[in-house]
Amino acid sequence: MPFADQSGKPLREFLDRALRRRGGPVPGRWLPIAVRGLRPIQSQRMDLEFSPAAEAFRAELRGWLAEHVPAGYGADAFEEFATLEEEFTFLRNWQAQLAEARWVGAHWPSEYGGRGAGPEEHYLLQEEMAAARAPEVINRIGVNLVGPSLMTHGTEEQRRRFLSRILSAEDIWCQLFSEPGAGSDLTSLRTRAIPDGDHFVVSGQKVWTSWAQYSDFGILLARTDPDAKRARGISYMILDMHSPGVEVRPLRQLTGSSEFNEVFLNDVRVPKENLVGALHDGWSIAQTTLAHERGTSPRQLVIHRMLLDDLIRLARTLPPDDPRRGRIAQAAIEVEIAKWHNWRTLTRRIRGEPLGPESSFIKLYWSEMSQRMHDVVMDVLGPAGILDGGPHSVARGRLVRSYLYYRAASIFAGTNEVQRNIIAGRVLGLPR
Ligand SMILES: Cc1cc2nc3c(=O)[nH]c(=O)nc-3n(C[C@H](O)[C@H](O)[C@H](O)COP(=O)(O)OP(=O)(O)OC[C@H]3O[C@@H](n4cnc5c(N)ncnc54)[C@H](O)[C@@H]3O)c2cc1C
Repeated sequence: MPFADQSGKPLREFLDRALRRRGGPVPGRWLPIAVRGLRPIQSQRMDLEFSPAAEAFRAELRGWLAEHVPAGYGADAFEEFATLEEEFTFLRNWQAQLAEARWVGAHWPSEYGGRGAGPEEHYLLQEEMAAARAPEVINRIGVNLVGPSLMTHGTEEQRRRFLSRILSAEDIWCQLFSEPGAGSDLTSLRTRAIPDGDHFVVSGQKVWTSWAQYSDFGILLARTDPDAKRARGISYMILDMHSPGVEVRPLRQLTGSSEFNEVFLNDVRVPKENLVGALHDGWSIAQTTLAHERGTSPRQLVIHRMLLDDLIRLARTLPPDDPRRGRIAQAAIEVEIAKWHNWRTLTRRIRGEPLGPESSFIKLYWSEMSQRMHDVVMDVLGPAGILDGGPHSVARGRLVRSYLYYRAASIFAGTNEVQRNIIAGRVLGLPR
C-alpha cells in the first residue's frame, strides 16, 4: 500500500503529474480524486498468511516427508541410477508409498482416493515436496491431466475403473496428443479412428510422448470425422498401451536420457466404451486437459529457489567487482517475482475464479527466468560446468543436466511463442 502510510507527498506529486499530462497543472485539484482513490486502497488488506487448516496440513506433510524421503535423494552424493528403467521403478514405488499416505492427488475428492483438499493445500503439497527434495510423482500426466479430465468428462464407470489406480501408480499414463505435423496447431492432427462394430480402429503416429515406454494407458486424440473441419471431427479416447499394434520407440534427448518417445499406432483396436465424452467432441475435452498443464507452478518456484542457493554458493569465490554478481542479484529478484505471480494465481483459485488466459503469463515467466538463471549458472561454472560426470565435473553433472533439461521449458506445455499470442490476443486485446 504505497500511498496509505505516507505524508501524502508521493501521492500529491503523482496526481499533479497525471493532471498536468491531461491538460494543465491545477494544484489541489487532485484532492477529490485522491479521496475517491484512497478509500479502496486503504480498505484493502493483503493477507499473506496461509489458513490455519493449510498450515496444519503443511506441518503434517513436513513430518511425513522428514521420515520417508529416501536418504540423500536430490543431493550430489546420491548414487545415480544405472538405467532409466531403474529410476522409473524407484519412482513408481515412491509414488505408491506417497499414495498410501494419501499425499498424491490430495485435492481430488475423497471418493476417488484424494483428501478433498483445497487449492492452498494443493499448492503447499507441491512446494513442500520440492523443498524436501522428495522424488517426483512419476505418474504426473495421470494425476495432473488425466484425473481432472476424467472427473469432468468421463463416465462414472471410467472414473471407478481408472482414477484410484492413477494415484497408486498401478497404472502409468501418457498423453498422446502431439504428432510430427501437429504440435502448436494440434487441430491439424491426422491420426484416424474408424468405427468398426463396438471398437475404433486407430492408425497414425504420435511423438514427444513422455514416459510412453512405461505407460499402461494413454489419453489419445484422433480424428473420427475426416470430413469435419479441423477441431470438429476429433474424439478423445483412452488407449490401452499394451494393445496389439502399439509400437513405442524412445527418443534420446539433449540430457542423454530418453524420457519421451515416438508412438506408432498400427490398426489398434480401442473399445468404444473407452471414448471420453461425446463422439467428435474431443477438442473441447482436450481444453480441460491442456488447462491443467499451466496455472501455478510452486514446484518450479522451489526448484529455482534451490538453483539460486547453488548459484550463490558457487559465486562466493567470485571477486567482489565481478559483473556476474549483478546477474545473480537479478536472478534472486526474478525468483521473488515468480513467487508473487504464483500467489496471485493461487488467490484466484482460492476465490474460485477461473484462471483464464493470464495463466499463460506464469508459464512464460518462469520458463524464461529458468533459462536466464541456467545461463548464469553455466557462466559461473566455466569450462568445468559442461562435464556430465567424472572427477572434474561440478555436482556430478547435475547442473549441466538441469541446464540442458530446461531448454525444453519454452517448448513443453505450449511453446512460449504461443503463450505470447494468447497474452497478446486474450489478455491485452491486441489486434491479430
Ligand atoms: C520435454 C517435452 C515433453 C513433451 N511431452 C509431451 C507429451 O507427453 N505428450 C504430447 O502430446 N506432447 C508432448 N510434448 C510436445 C509439445 O507439446 C510440443 O513440442 C509443443 O506443443 C510444440 O509443438 P511442436 O514441437 O510440433 O512445434 P511446432 O508447433 O511445430 O512449433 C515450431 C516453432 O514454431 C512456433 N510456432 C508455431 N505456431 C506458432 C504461431 N501460431 N505463432 C508463433 N509461433 C508459432 C513455435 O513456438 C516453435 O518455436 C513434449 C515436448 C517436450 C519438449
